[in-house]
Amino acid sequence: MEDFAQRLAQIQERIEAAERRSGRSPGAVKLMAVSKTRSRQEVEEAYRLGLRLFGENRVQEAAEKFDAMPADTELHLIGHLQRNKAKTAAASVVCVQSIDKFETAAALEKHCAELDRTMKILLEVNTSGEVSKEGVTNQAQLIPLIEAVLDMTHLKISGLMTMAPFTDDQTAVRASFSALRKLQEHLVKVFPETDFSELSMGMSSDFELAIEEGSTLVRVGTSLFGPRK
Ligand SMILES: *Cc1c(COP(=O)(O)O)cnc(C)c1O
Repeated sequence: MEDFAQRLAQIQERIEAAERRSGRSPGAVKLMAVSKTRSRQEVEEAYRLGLRLFGENRVQEAAEKFDAMPADTELHLIGHLQRNKAKTAAASVVCVQSIDKFETAAALEKHCAELDRTMKILLEVNTSGEVSKEGVTNQAQLIPLIEAVLDMTHLKISGLMTMAPFTDDQTAVRASFSALRKLQEHLVKVFPETDFSELSMGMSSDFELAIEEGSTLVRVGTSLFGPRK
């Protein structure tokens, strides 16, 4: 686990350098450890080294792995949420970053109401144009979705999430991140009372670009834990 500590220190340095380079204030960007496929033991080691924010793709895996973690552990769902998993999600994570459909939001709202809890959500936007990716693709879908979620009293919008296209073309990756930031600027005007401050963008291969384009939360798996099997 010495390796893990070294990798963590390197990533933190790269985040700080990207913050400085792009005129962001120090600490403006949160580091999320994406722990999908990793063991409970690896999560505990990450926690011991100071990480508190974790992301998982699958609800069941998240619920089992994070059961009885210390109370200051902040677990987000970053993968697609199926409606029939909304109950488990409501009971096991503090934020769902992948809301892109009314039906999923409504199911989550219902189960959060039953548990008498509120849940942070991010709206997932497809900024890459890749059909394989989840996320709302246009404003004609997004605006009514936001209006509907604003009526759901147990869900609290706190920003937007995206995944860049899967390519080495840095211009395309950057364009995807800047599209999310521009969308945020637009939404703040349309919904001045709503919090869109969180911009969850950037992964192992592109988190520095994302920070330069305004990311507030980077989701890093491979560069922290090593390659996934
Ligand atoms: C797996 C995953 C990540 C982390 O990817 P790495 O390339 O391993 O850093 C980030 N975000 C989402 C939505 C993911 O599914």
